[in-house]
Amino acid sequence: MAKVASTKLTSSGKCNFCLSEFDKSKMTQHLKYCKQRSTIIKTENSAEAQKTRLFHIVVEGRYLPVYWMHLEMPANNTLYDLDAFLRAIWLECCNHLSAFNIGKASYSSQTEDMLWGLADPTAIEAADVEEEDIDEDEEEPDITELSQAEIQNLSPVEVAMRLSELLQQEFQANIADLSPAEFQAKFTELMAVRMGDSLTPEMQIQLSNLSVLIQPLLVDFVNDDYEHDMDVELSKVLKVGQKFFHEYDFGSTTKLALKVVAEREGTAPKDDDKYSGEFGEDETIKIMARNNPPQISCRECGKPATKVAAGYYYFEDGALCDVCARTSLKEYEDMFLPIVNSPRVGVCGYTGDANVEEFDWDDEEEDEAEEDEEQ
Ligand SMILES: [Zn+2]
Ligand SMILES: [Zn+2]
Ligand SMILES: [Zn+2]
Repeated sequence: MAKVASTKLTSSGKCNFCLSEFDKSKMTQHLKYCKQRSTIIKTENSAEAQKTRLFHIVVEGRYLPVYWMHLEMPANNTLYDLDAFLRAIWLECCNHLSAFNIGKASYSSQTEDMLWGLADPTAIEAADVEEEDIDEDEEEPDITELSQAEIQNLSPVEVAMRLSELLQQEFQANIADLSPAEFQAKFTELMAVRMGDSLTPEMQIQLSNLSVLIQPLLVDFVNDDYEHDMDVELSKVLKVGQKFFHEYDFGSTTKLALKVVAEREGTAPKDDDKYSGEFGEDETIKIMARNNPPQISCRECGKPATKVAAGYYYFEDGALCDVCARTSLKEYEDMFLPIVNSPRVGVCGYTGDANVEEFDWDDEEEDEAEEDEEQ
């Protein structure tokens, strides 16, 4: 526990515009008044380039706040873009699932539909289009591959929730606009068609009664209170002052806390300083400031640690220097991970460096440094 506390003490970081170091708590304020940054912004704003809404977002390890970054990115980027960025710089080890939690809504890298083996939303839309040309009451598109066994393992509410998602897509109607009677009729009809023989008369009555409860739930669902994919623009779900959360890997989870601290109209980061990873050409995320790597001490001798034995709840408990790593290996420690500047240090197979190199991160930081020096 004491080790965790000591880690929290080190929380200075570097402004990537003027390259000065500041305490974590001062960085938001500094970025507001950083001369180099305002010079860059002024130059950008005097150019004819198209302006766009930019969010200033602070992200930190939810339980390891010693790791933090100040980002700037266009508000019309999607949560996918932000997720891809966070994975690339801080998180990715073996392509685990991830999710943002914003208010009551959850935005997953893989939606529940996908987990359930249902078709992806575009396929459902396509099926709907085709279906409109055919007689509506006839062939159902083959999108519910619910086995009877699966259905029997679900509670009626779960069945209802899953099928009502389909209902929303099928009728293309705003569920909130339907009268309770209309909703009940459409709902039970769909259930009967979808579930066929597995729908017992008792269940049918239950579902019919449940439809009264389900309609308002569905309205909430439509109003973003449930699970979505990440194909959502930041501007649709975030505003200045909004706190939100990110989780990577639902097993050995790395949790991040984020906050939109400011916004401005400006030009999106240019090609040469944009974060151009594998996720398309338009995504532009700028790291304005980032924490300095915290000093992690070797658990044996107290010298700076270079590696960490995997599998500790507090990664500091597995931190070792090169010398001690050779001599103090405990029998259950068969894997070392490098100490990296990320809240996922020592977790699962996270090695950090590979990702950073793959995404040319070092080059970019050097470029930025050179740019700043020129001014
Ligand atoms: Zn600065
Ligand atoms: Zn992993
Ligand atoms: Zn040591």
